[in-house]
Amino acid sequence: QVDVVRLQEMFGAIAQAMAREKERLCELDGVIGDADHGIAMELGFSAAAKAVAALDPATSDPTAVFNTAAKSFLSAVGASSGPLYATAFMRAGAAVKGKPSLTDGDMIDAFEAMAKGIQDRGKAEPGEKTMVDAWAPAAAAARSAQLEGKPLVACLEAALDAATKGAEATKDMIAAKGRSSRLGDRVIGHMDPGAASAVVLIDTIARSFD
Ligand code: ADP
Ligand code: MG
Ligand code: MG
Repeated sequence: QVDVVRLQEMFGAIAQAMAREKERLCELDGVIGDADHGIAMELGFSAAAKAVAALDPATSDPTAVFNTAAKSFLSAVGASSGPLYATAFMRAGAAVKGKPSLTDGDMIDAFEAMAKGIQDRGKAEPGEKTMVDAWAPAAAAARSAQLEGKPLVACLEAALDAATKGAEATKDMIAAKGRSSRLGDRVIGHMDPGAASAVVLIDTIARSFD
């Protein structure tokens, strides 16, 4: 069972990972965007981790953790990743509403809801060189591993593997959404920064529950 304290720790770990990866993510965004993606993710997750850490585990449930993360992420981030991850966390919160702690199945529900939230908010389909190219296959892989009866960590490792392949595949894509869609085939050969940060995020989530 995943409780509020473990979710607080997870957000703390994500904030640390984004701080470590900030420069690499900015460099990726510098090639096909405006070079701020690492800053956006670091700012967003440090704000989310701080706000989430301030919740009292005795009086908060997992939904409160995700909703708090969503609100603080949205107010901290001006870039287009702000509303995308805010929606992801709102949807995760709604998916586990009323549960004091989360089973493996609940965690996969939350994970899948995040991916769907990002897709609904940004209206991107797989193949359009966005973070959806990491998130959509990751959610599908996590769900099929869960339906095979695998434990949470194995589901998240399957998700990480799918996200890594999906992010790698964005190198061969032309962007159809976001600011890099203005660059036409000049983006070929370069990984989408939002897909790269999704891998960092999913990697950290997987490590949080092994
Ligand atoms: P901005 O482009 O506003 O500076 P960021 O640099 O933080 O925002 O994020 C850029 C990333 O956001 C892209 O690499 C892409 O993965 C993702 N992105 C942009 N638009 C969309 C969209 N409509 N749907 C899904 N992801 C998107
Ligand atoms: Mg940017
Ligand atoms: Mg920007």
